[in-house]
Amino acid sequence: MTTNSPTWADTLVHLLALASRLEDEGQYNLAKLTRAIADSLSRQAAFRMAAPIAADELAADLKQTAAALASLNVSAAARSALAQGADVMAGGSMPLITTIPHPHVCRTCGHLLLGAPETNCPTCGAWPGTYQRFMPNYWLDAFEPLAAIERLRQTPLDVATLLEGLTEAQLNQAPAGGGWAIRNVLTHLRDAQDVLAFRLDLFLQEEHPLLEAKAVWTWAANEGERPPTALEIFQTYRAARRETLHKLEQMPLTHWWRTGRHQEFGVVTLRQQASYFAAHELTHLSQINALRRI
Ligand SMILES: [Zn+2]
Repeated sequence: MTTNSPTWADTLVHLLALASRLEDEGQYNLAKLTRAIADSLSRQAAFRMAAPIAADELAADLKQTAAALASLNVSAAARSALAQGADVMAGGSMPLITTIPHPHVCRTCGHLLLGAPETNCPTCGAWPGTYQRFMPNYWLDAFEPLAAIERLRQTPLDVATLLEGLTEAQLNQAPAGGGWAIRNVLTHLRDAQDVLAFRLDLFLQEEHPLLEAKAVWTWAANEGERPPTALEIFQTYRAARRETLHKLEQMPLTHWWRTGRHQEFGVVTLRQQASYFAAHELTHLSQINALRRI
């Protein structure tokens, strides 16, 4: 590599440095595009890179990576949380908010903290409120209340359209390589809807309720002794959804900002939970669509 040919990492860092300077200049549209290009390049590279598929290999990779980060400027607290989380994952579970609080990164200098900063940045003096908070996923803040209601109403209709013309046998047909049949996806949607309904009631009945962490995706392959048809599973999901929508539409607007203590994600509002489940469902539409063609 010659000095005239910058490395990929140099280009990325240069773009991010330009974005920060553009923000200082008040050139926010240029800054947003520059950051988007840096994000796009990173994701393109990650998309091409093969990460481990098996969960135990993924956890092992994560643990090794945490150790290797010691040579870079990543705090011992962050590395330790990563390694602890990898151990929890290797044990077949998910690290909770107590093990991995929401990380905050100083937008000016990159100083990283686990949990919300209470004092100015020790490196550059930036105010605590200016840090970037990293949330577990975008689902929590994807939809405002009315948009969440519309999404929660629309997705079952979209699923119904995808299921049109499929026989019960097709709905139960697992892909050749293994994995979920459409039936399992429908079971998963129903299970997630049940969690939403259960939590909605908790938010409405209790002050700041405890929301237990649920590994909902692990339930989709477990069925009772007399399993219902795939279509019956779908109908149960739709009926439960109608009831949830009715409650959401009837409650006072201020209830959307009621809070709960989520074991995995920390303090969340009812608005964030509704957004989460509405956005989560969307990710399964392409899965059903792909399974229709097998
Ligand atoms: Zn700083």
